[in-house]
Amino acid sequence: MSIASDKLEIIRQQVQYHLDHAEQSRLTPDQEAALKQQITDRLESENAVLIAHYYTAPEIQALAEETGGCVSDSLEMARFGHDHSAETLVVAGVKFMGETAKILNPEKRVLMPTLEATCSLDLGCPVEEFSAFCDAHPDREVVVYANTSAAVKARADWVVTSSIALDVAEHLAEEGKKIIWAPDRHLGDYVRRQSGADILIWDGACIVHEEFKARGIADLKRVYPDAAVLVHPESPASVLELADRVGSTTQIIRAACEMDNRRFIVATDQGIFYKLQQQAPDKEFIIAPTAGEGATCRSCANCPWMAMNELETLAGVFDRSDNEIFVDPELGARATVPLQRMLDFAARLNVTVKGNA
Ligand code: SF4
Repeated sequence: MSIASDKLEIIRQQVQYHLDHAEQSRLTPDQEAALKQQITDRLESENAVLIAHYYTAPEIQALAEETGGCVSDSLEMARFGHDHSAETLVVAGVKFMGETAKILNPEKRVLMPTLEATCSLDLGCPVEEFSAFCDAHPDREVVVYANTSAAVKARADWVVTSSIALDVAEHLAEEGKKIIWAPDRHLGDYVRRQSGADILIWDGACIVHEEFKARGIADLKRVYPDAAVLVHPESPASVLELADRVGSTTQIIRAACEMDNRRFIVATDQGIFYKLQQQAPDKEFIIAPTAGEGATCRSCANCPWMAMNELETLAGVFDRSDNEIFVDPELGARATVPLQRMLDFAARLNVTVKGNA
């Protein structure tokens, strides 16, 4: 199963549009300060809290922290929203994150700067095709990554984040169960090789992580031989082979704090540099190269959909009628089952489930 070529073309066009747009939308410091104040005031008057993903722009992450919100991965974002007293959750991330927040907090209003912010993994796994794929293999447990729609989650037996994916696969293998894994082929391949489980893998990919180049990282390692390489498992196997640590967003941040190295080459979205520099201010972080020969950028490791979360759109988040997340209650109830299964499993393992893209 793969993303259809016409859909890939649409994705490419969206990526280019938003890369171009991002270049044009730089704010002056005064404009940025005014927008931040405007958003802060509205969050307070609307009894709302801002919850941002690690991959959003530094000014969005800073604002979330300054206003009592949180910066995290998608599941922790949903959990934070659940525990917080605010009636409205403003989710700065991509659409599946807003949906996960709504599934786990059906009584709350969930708003996003734009519902156009999506994810190539979500786009590449439409529920009708995926459901047919599952129906064709009824003997397999269906394990889906958090980066999927509510409908795909509702079709699954398990939802996993990258930090618990391996544990779940090993658990299912021990029980003699075979697995369908969706949608990320690189993460699925990594889990299959590490666990030895019998896994049938859907053919989706993250357009950011798939672009990291092993050759470029190896070249960079020659320049900085003391640097440790931290890699997100949505990256290709050739890149994972060069890693000193493979891990989720949260695990990458933790590794940077715990490892003795002073310098790191980081293969994940560059939005994570805000947290890395905040948590390990005395260390140096270098973005892993994505550029091939002839490319005009050294690294394009910046998700175009995450980049749609801008201060300007955030400032208008309460004034539009096209940016609220709705999940059909019956669908949400079904999607809760595999999500809860992961949370219960994690509780039994006593591990955190932080760490999807
Ligand atoms: S970085 Fe990749 S996995 Fe994360 S939202 Fe963007 S496309 Fe999806």
